[in-house]
Amino acid sequence: ENKVKDEPEEENDDDGGSEAEDEEKSFDELGLDPRLIRALSKKDISISKPTPIQRVAIPLILEGKDVVARAKTGSGKTLAYLLPLLHKLFADSGLKQKNAPSAFILVPSGELCQQVYKEISSLIDLCKVPLKAVPLRSNMPISDMRAALSGPPDILISTPAGVAKCLSTGVLQSTSIADSLEILVLDEADLLLSFGFEEDLKALTALLPRRCQCLLMSATSSDDVDKLKKLILHNPYILTLPEVD
Ligand code: ADP
Ligand code: MG
Repeated sequence: ENKVKDEPEEENDDDGGSEAEDEEKSFDELGLDPRLIRALSKKDISISKPTPIQRVAIPLILEGKDVVARAKTGSGKTLAYLLPLLHKLFADSGLKQKNAPSAFILVPSGELCQQVYKEISSLIDLCKVPLKAVPLRSNMPISDMRAALSGPPDILISTPAGVAKCLSTGVLQSTSIADSLEILVLDEADLLLSFGFEEDLKALTALLPRRCQCLLMSATSSDDVDKLKKLILHNPYILTLPEVD
């Protein structure tokens, strides 16, 4: 297994040198699409440079690596996966006719689903790209699920139970997922297991195409996260910023 463990960052006492330069790295040095950088500056002026987890995770995700990112709550993990995810979908939008979304973002609750949806749609709107994201609720009527998945959208945000329901009702075909899915994100991965989504996740990961890139975001280290890692990630880079145990 190819594991890279990032050492916790030292306090920077601003005496120059490469660490200080790294601290100053801006979003456009990370290789992101300029439309995303412009969108960020319009969206929220307080977001001017990447947080430590963003600085390390974004280039690896852009390279296509599987990444496990562990960093405490509030460290900016949402943009750490959303920005490279959108960058990749910009690059191949419209290249291939699809029957299922290109990206799934799985979250442990309906509330987080709405939060991530809001964040991603505001970036898509500001970038003026023809990408579509939809949030799914597992208690939606099947006809609404069918309508939400028609198209299909590029990005689906859901709890694992929502995706499991799409599969069991035929709203999503497992063969379409195998053909289309390029990126799978498990946000708050520690909670995904403790909230009882393990069986739903297993059903989904059994369908993953080999080339699917998997990103796992978590606030803590636990046996649960290790379990998910084994279930899903092929050859992940493990980033821990700062050390959380
Ligand atoms: P986490 O998922 O790690 O708990 P979030 O992604 O929810 O953290 O981000 C926490 C807050 O930090 C959000 O309000 C977000 O807008 C803000 N934020 C994210 N990235 C940056 C950044 N690079 N600079 C300043 N604020 C940021
Ligand atoms: Mg988060």
